[in-house]
Amino acid sequence: MDEIKNIALVAHDNCKQELVEWVDFNWGSLLEHRLICTGTTGRLVEEALTAHLSSDNEVNARVTRLKSGPLGGDQQLGALIAEGRIDVLIFFWDPMQPQAHDVDIRALLRIAVLYNIPTACDRSTADFLISSPLIKQKYTPIRRDYSSYLSRTV
Ligand code: PGA
Repeated sequence: MDEIKNIALVAHDNCKQELVEWVDFNWGSLLEHRLICTGTTGRLVEEALTAHLSSDNEVNARVTRLKSGPLGGDQQLGALIAEGRIDVLIFFWDPMQPQAHDVDIRALLRIAVLYNIPTACDRSTADFLISSPLIKQKYTPIRRDYSSYLSRTV
């Protein structure tokens, strides 16, 4: 990971307000990085950041919006993690309500653990992550060695 991180942001509907407040509070730190969001979360993140910047273009340059989560956005994020293109995942998932795309959510959380991606699923952990000195430093996550799995005979 470089000094500039690729930070994925996702929030379920009941958690979106909380994520927007968090983005609003941490806008200065977040704008030092690249932000990759699921569709609706991304729109709200862009709106929150626009309030702090002089032009929409500056925000658009920093925020990438994928498809909405239930329409494949979570799977897109999982694919980006597998390709090594996401460094940090901020995912405020709703602990009180089942989602139509629960299987996608589970897959995203699984792939994040598989690739040892720093992940925050609540605001406190997100605060700890964004204020960690490592967020501004180069960092090489230690990945588990899957070579014996890959070379297995079946
Ligand atoms: P959304 O998707 O940002 O498009 O609402 C989030 C999700 O439900 O995974």
